[in-house]
Formats: sequence, structure tokens, C-alpha cells
Amino acid sequence: MNTADMKTLALPSGRRVPVLGQGTWYMGEDPASAAREAQALQLGMDLGMTLIDTAEMYAEGGAEQVVGKAIAGRRDEAFIVSKVYPHNAHVSGMQAACERSLKRMNIDCIDLYLLHWPGSVPMEDTLEGFERLRGAGKIRDFGVSNVDLYGMEETLELPGGAGLATNQVLYNLLRRGIEFDLLPTCRQLGIPVMAYSPLESSGSEQRALLGHPGLQAVARRHDVSSAQVALAWVLAQEGVIAIPKAVDPVHVRANRAALDIALTAQDMAELDLAFPPPRRARALDMR
Ligand code: NAP
Repeated sequence: MNTADMKTLALPSGRRVPVLGQGTWYMGEDPASAAREAQALQLGMDLGMTLIDTAEMYAEGGAEQVVGKAIAGRRDEAFIVSKVYPHNAHVSGMQAACERSLKRMNIDCIDLYLLHWPGSVPMEDTLEGFERLRGAGKIRDFGVSNVDLYGMEETLELPGGAGLATNQVLYNLLRRGIEFDLLPTCRQLGIPVMAYSPLESSGSEQRALLGHPGLQAVARRHDVSSAQVALAWVLAQEGVIAIPKAVDPVHVRANRAALDIALTAQDMAELDLAFPPPRRARALDMR
């Protein structure tokens, strides 16, 4: 399996990216685990999951260093997404933050640079920072994360705002709020949504998802795990890119295989019953 077999989706700039990528939150926290984490990302890349999502926040740069290790010698295969802290997201702060990220990953250019979440810096300044970085060849595309519909509409009207390539948000079977308004609007605009925590991350929240009898019933029918069905469901949504994080190689392979699970109309109906879609607008869910 390689990138050629991977389903892709076009960003507004026309660049195509895999619909299934890899997350890196909590990687780089412990130097003793870095080699194993980098190997997991390399395995994912071998399987076509060449979009890698990271952030200056993750392990305060440690995750970007793991990404740097993973893509050493194969930078051209990878599509690197990183994120700037809101408190750095002003023109000068962004130039410095981006340089630090590039250095940690040992690359010249970030493929897609996102504002991690909206903070107190006016979005006009952040957009200008993105434009300058793009002009200098330090980033290719830019976008936002954790921005609700109202925030997106406002951003799109600002100078440079029309260039938004994505909005990365929390989306999985338990967190379907964006289906009411944000997701349909992004589809209309041709802006892919990047679904983070597609497996609901960890702990009791993840158990509530993966242990749900409705999900397990569908998984049994396909003879796959409930995590794979949860991921297949996200991947079945039009205009959505999913970025599960996995260090365990069994998980990496399982996630790639989830892309090949064809959920039926009956599966989708049962999942809707178990995890009802939103009936009204809700505040944006985030981690
Ligand atoms: P996630 O991908 O929903 O879940 C990750 C957890 O699920 C890990 O413990 C992983 O274990 C496990 N896992 C992975 N594949 C599995 C499988 N097939 N079966 C069973 N368990 C599996 O959680 P996440 O890390 O929160 O979200 C994914 C990525 O989205 C992050 O890593 C980050 O890049 C991004 N993110 C962005 C934001 C934002 O604000 N923009 C917020 C949160 C996350 P192992 O690692 O042990 O394999």
C-alpha cells in the first residue's frame, strides 16, 4: 500500500491531501519514546497516511522534533500541518514561531500552518502573518482550528481570509455538533474540515465511544474493531479529513484499514440511532 492508493481531497489552493492522516499530540513528551513514535509515523507514511498533524504546543516542540525524525530523508512524501499558539499569532510572533517549528522539523516549509485556537490577537494580524510567511515561502497554505461558524464567517470577510484552507475541529460520533451548521457551510465553500480526536482521544470519553453497544454491533458485523468503525464513519463524511494519533503499530495498521471499510446504509442508520445527529445549533466542542 502506498500514497497512490490513498483517497485524497483537494484544498481550496488545489493541492491534494490524503483524507486520512496522523496526529502527534502527546508524542515527544518522553525522549525514551521518541524513536518508537517516529517509527509509528513512518509506518503510517508507508501505508499512505502522509499527512502529519503537529503543533508547537505538543510537548512544547517535542512532537515537532519527532516529526522531524520521522520525515528525515523523505520530506517530499509528507504533508506537514503545524499550528501556532494564539499568543504567538501576531505578525512578528508568527515569523519567529514558524522559524522555530521549521528548525525543529528540519524543513524549509510547512505545508499547512494553522492558528491553534482563537485568542486575543485580532484575526487581521494573524492573516497578515500568514500572508507574509507564505510570501517568504515558509508556509504553503494556512487555516484555523477550533473556530466556530460565526468566527469563520467573520474571518472569510477579512483581507486574506478567503484563503483559509481548512478548519481543524473536534469531530467524531459523540461530537456531531458541526453537522448542524459548520460542516455544511465548509462543504459549500469547498473548505475541508479536519477532524481531530476522531477516536475521542483517551480515558473515559474514549471508552464511552469505543464501548458503545451500538458501535460494537456494527463492528461485529464487519469483523473489525469499534475504533475502526468510528474512524470509517468520520471518513465516510464528505469533505472531511481525519487525523487519528497512534503509536502502537497495530493501531496504525488498523487505522489505515478503516479507510477500506464500506459502511452500509443500515450501518449508518444504526449509528445515527446510537449517536444522534444535532437538531439545533450547539457551541463548538473542543478539547
Ligand atoms: P485520537 O486520535 O482520537 O485517539 C488517540 C488514542 O487512540 C491514542 O491513545 C491511541 O493509542 C488510540 N488509538 C489510535 N488508533 C487506535 C485504534 N485503531 N484502536 C484503538 N485505539 C487506537 O486522539 P487525539 O490524539 O486527541 O486526536 C488526534 C490528533 O488530532 C492529535 O494527535 C492532534 O494531532 C490533533 N488534535 C488537534 C487538536 C486541536 O485543538 N486542533 C486537539 C486535539 C487533537 P496509541 O497512541 O497507543 O496507539
